[in-house]
Amino acid sequence: MGTVEIYGAQMGAGVLVHGGAGHVDASRRPDHVEGCKHAARVGYDVIASGGSALDAVQAAARVLEDLPAFNAGTGAALNEDGAVEHDAAIMEGATLRAGGVAALRGFKNPIDVARAVLDHGRHVLLAAEGASSFALARGFSKVEEESLVTERAKETLARVLAGRAETGWAGGTIGAVARDRHGSVAAATSTGGTVSKLRGRVGDSPILGAGTLADDVSCAVSATGDGEGILKIGLARVIATLVERGEPVERAAHAAIERMVERTKANGGVIVFDRHGRFGFARSTETMSWAVCGESGADAGI
Ligand code: ASP
Repeated sequence: MGTVEIYGAQMGAGVLVHGGAGHVDASRRPDHVEGCKHAARVGYDVIASGGSALDAVQAAARVLEDLPAFNAGTGAALNEDGAVEHDAAIMEGATLRAGGVAALRGFKNPIDVARAVLDHGRHVLLAAEGASSFALARGFSKVEEESLVTERAKETLARVLAGRAETGWAGGTIGAVARDRHGSVAAATSTGGTVSKLRGRVGDSPILGAGTLADDVSCAVSATGDGEGILKIGLARVIATLVERGEPVERAAHAAIERMVERTKANGGVIVFDRHGRFGFARSTETMSWAVCGESGADAGI
């Protein structure tokens, strides 16, 4: 097993984002970090003006979805047919209200559709055509699918299909966790999934307790990495259980990532914010871009 890097600090109210676990080339690292810093700032502006953790993580996730450097929204990884199928979820820790979409095609900001599922309240997760019909009925417009596809995503798929790069997870998935001034937490995660995935494949990101979770009795979690491993372990739920028992967030994150690597050989990273205002992360990958912005200041890295 490689080293699991961890970080933790006290923040109070704030927003912590990630731009995906994986390996980002040195030339692309500044873009990743700047994007994360901007998203964390936009998210914290919501909290600083009295808004909820839920609205903050949605705002931060939307910023990252719109940046083509990341594997979410515009610039998402392509499936085996060269198409974008988005997964996203959002959850509020105070109420346990949650919404998610899986294998959704043709919408610019999947996190906003996930939020509409949460607001609608009847179901937690909608997939494929059903998710698409729901979005249209709730007033979202479809975009040309080609407008979500970047040259870089096409080149990556071509390399993978030609056997010149590993298939598997793409890196660049995005996520946000936050704690507001009322001590409530929220989480959001959005992704195009893995490069050359089968049509209809759903990863960990929209699955509560795997890639996304928020519960005020413990913490908010957004995961990234090898989705099949994260799903098998139930990574976010493992962390929440440890935090509820009193483990500091970064130690809980470290223990859960170690368990995943040991049990499934999968790698990844995770960001966590608890209701007491402590945040942290852990990753077993070479890079995971991140940024935090809140009451006690701002920080970022990769
Ligand atoms: N976890 C995502 C998935 O498997 C990929 C990633 O985080 O890069 O869909």
